[in-house]
Amino acid sequence: MREGFAIAIDGPVAAGKGTLASKLAEELHGFYLYTGAMYRCLALECINRGVAIDDEAAVEQVLPFVSIRFEGTKTFLNDVDVTERIQASDAANGASVVSVDPKVREDAVRKQQAIAKKAIRKGEIVVAEGRDTGTRVLPDAKLKIYLTATPEVRAKRRLAQFVNQGRQVDYEHVLAEVQERDERDKGRETDPLPSNPEDLGYVILDDSQMSEEETLGVIKKELQRRELV
Ligand code: C5P
Repeated sequence: MREGFAIAIDGPVAAGKGTLASKLAEELHGFYLYTGAMYRCLALECINRGVAIDDEAAVEQVLPFVSIRFEGTKTFLNDVDVTERIQASDAANGASVVSVDPKVREDAVRKQQAIAKKAIRKGEIVVAEGRDTGTRVLPDAKLKIYLTATPEVRAKRRLAQFVNQGRQVDYEHVLAEVQERDERDKGRETDPLPSNPEDLGYVILDDSQMSEEETLGVIKKELQRRELV
């Protein structure tokens, strides 16, 4: 049996990483590893327990009570399907706060690496997405993509998702949230979102003007060019 390998897709908030990575994993019959879900689940568990998101010591105490499992595109927190719930703003903003803590990151990265290693050993292609999957989680990834788009395009996409879910939020508010999360992700000390992705071996893809199909096509071509598929 041939060994599997990893593909890392990193980039800022709402660049389209989730849709792209999950579709790619499906087409390659691979394993979709949504690393952001781990930080969102920790934030959700804190919210459920009434633990203040910005109290590092208290948040760290919650870590042993968070068990996460992935099934396709679904995320289970302590055996409860939280796929929809963790997409809400409180979990998203909470994730961006708890993920600054190096102890939280260490715990999440260790779990992500264990999941990826197991799948790769079984011969699967792991498609991981997040902020540090190509730098810290899976530095040996055979293809690293930095997916981005302008903040305005990303805020519009996020807004469309909220509208789809029947939620009322205004554009300015969503844009401010997107920018605030970007700043935190780029500014943190431990494993920030890279500001020099080209120097770190990433292929940079700005999908502001591209459809999902086009973006997927570019990545599949790159995989073929590298004789990975
Ligand atoms: O990707 P997603 O928006 O679901 O991630 C939620 C938050 O989790 C991000 O804003 C970021 O702060 C954090 N995150 C991270 N490292 C990752 C994935 C997500 O710090 N690999």
